[in-house]
Amino acid sequence: MLAAAPPLRAPGSARRPRIRCPLPGPRAAGVVERDAQVLSSSLTRPYPLVIDRGDGLWVTDVDGNQFLDFTAGIAVNATGHAHPAVVAAVEAQARRFLHMAGTDFYYERQVELAARLAEAAPVAAPARVFLTNSGAEAIEGAIKLSRWATRRTHLLAFSGAFHGRTLGALSLTASKAVQREGFGPLVPGVFHVPFPSRAPGGVSTDETLRRIDELFHTLISPESVAAVFVEPIQGEGGYVVPPEDFLPRLRCLTREHGILLVADEVQSGMGRTGRLFALEHSGVEADIVTMAKGIASGMPLGAFVAGKGNMAWPSGSHGSTFGGNPVSCAAALATLDLLDGGLVENAAARGAELLEGLEWLCGRHPRLLTCGRGRGLMLAFECVSSERATEVVAAAFERGLLTLPAGATAVRLSPPLTVSSEESAVALEILDAACAAVASATEPTERTTGGR
Ligand code: PLP
Repeated sequence: MLAAAPPLRAPGSARRPRIRCPLPGPRAAGVVERDAQVLSSSLTRPYPLVIDRGDGLWVTDVDGNQFLDFTAGIAVNATGHAHPAVVAAVEAQARRFLHMAGTDFYYERQVELAARLAEAAPVAAPARVFLTNSGAEAIEGAIKLSRWATRRTHLLAFSGAFHGRTLGALSLTASKAVQREGFGPLVPGVFHVPFPSRAPGGVSTDETLRRIDELFHTLISPESVAAVFVEPIQGEGGYVVPPEDFLPRLRCLTREHGILLVADEVQSGMGRTGRLFALEHSGVEADIVTMAKGIASGMPLGAFVAGKGNMAWPSGSHGSTFGGNPVSCAAALATLDLLDGGLVENAAARGAELLEGLEWLCGRHPRLLTCGRGRGLMLAFECVSSERATEVVAAAFERGLLTLPAGATAVRLSPPLTVSSEESAVALEILDAACAAVASATEPTERTTGGR
């Protein structure tokens, strides 16, 4: 049976990656070798990309190879590499002052940014903001705040969740065993229940709520739970989208018991899913929202936002030397302008096209891929095994497309929100070729259906 024509087609004139030498090239190989001597062996590198410079969706490596970037530095470069408006904002701020410890002193950029985040975040107004350096630091702050505000200790999170790697955040993380092994004891009083999923065979909302109920009857009382931490769409867990009723029903349950709902929007926030925050798709308001990654287009920054009633902790109870760095705040303000100026809409439109493209791709390679999923530009396709997912990521890299694995068996696509239809079409073309190469290497009899 012939597969339908690809939903996106790149014209012959479209810009495509240029790979000039076998990868890694000589200069990249040298850097990789030196890196292995001096950098922590804990880092996770799926392939030897050594960036020299970036521009929009295009990355040039130290050997002059040009790649199309569908990772955005793990969903961080929301506005693409080195967006001129962000670079100009960074330059202008850097000339004025680089740092003045926002915990101890005042500056206008920090106030301006907090006002915009408080206004935009899906928490009940009026809200307050604490600015951090990273996602994990935002989660740590949210853990402390939820305990402080409720005077309760227990925390609930979900299997497959990723909330960061510092000890508090790691206690909530339940994505891969290697991330936790050897680091115990972690923070006590953290409980996990299954995350529901729309995917075939996924856990239902009913089942998840039944497991929470069971927990409340067998291990802890709901009155001892400070907060439930949830990613509206799981990130590192594999870009898993929950059923539509999940977040509204979780909101009802937490309200009923006076438990705070913490939405971790570190990966799903800042326009990536086609709304500024993924929670907006469900109409739910959280008590605390955490954010980072795309917030400042690559400058280190995170935040957690909470209603004023909850963020009423006393002076001195929480702080951060570098949190809310003025250069990062300037980058974030420029990023928000660009998101408001059409990039969130672009994420929704390009994401819908790409999702159709992934369904087409899965139809072309039925023995290798099972399904595409996601929302906006938080997209993934599921492979039949983790080995095949690794091979597809490697084959795409060899052809000049940067992707990353996610979860146990998925490949994720998280391009900058500036991506065009033409760039998406080129990415699909490369993924098709990469899948065909992996399929023919592993299953000589496999044929793709239909053709470009
Ligand atoms: N929360 C989520 C949902 C994440 O995806 C991540 C990082 O991937 C984190 C928290 C931790 O963020 P960071 O790596 O900036 O500490």
